[in-house]
Amino acid sequence: MTEETIFSKIIRQEIPTPLLYQDDLVTAFRDISPQAPCHILVIPNKLIATVNDVTEDDELTLGRMITVAKKLAKEEGISDDGYRLIMNCNDHGGQEVYHIHMHLVGGHKLGPMLKR
Ligand code: AMP
Repeated sequence: MTEETIFSKIIRQEIPTPLLYQDDLVTAFRDISPQAPCHILVIPNKLIATVNDVTEDDELTLGRMITVAKKLAKEEGISDDGYRLIMNCNDHGGQEVYHIHMHLVGGHKLGPMLKR
């Protein structure tokens, strides 16, 4: 069975994390340890542990995550300069929280995608 993470508590507002967006499918809030001037997490309300666990039934939710990220980027004023959307999977991907999430990062020039 997939175990809940702190993100489920944030979705249900059982811990007082300010939400930037929430609808029937997704929730967005600021990362607690920002890696850039703007660092937001967009997550599905449904617990999906890793990208490996995504199914065709989740396609609407995954699409919503991107449209919400786009909307928030605009609200944050970083759309025109640009930003990065990141999803980490499992150990080699550097995933720490096993409830999938899309990082929206921007607000300055981010540099190369990966360290060489
Ligand atoms: P990842 O390494 O892709 O699993 O990223 C997990 C992210 O969740 C990290 O950037 C953490 O800083 C962030 N994070 C963990 N706990 C919280 C929390 N309570 N509120 C907001 N962000 C969190």
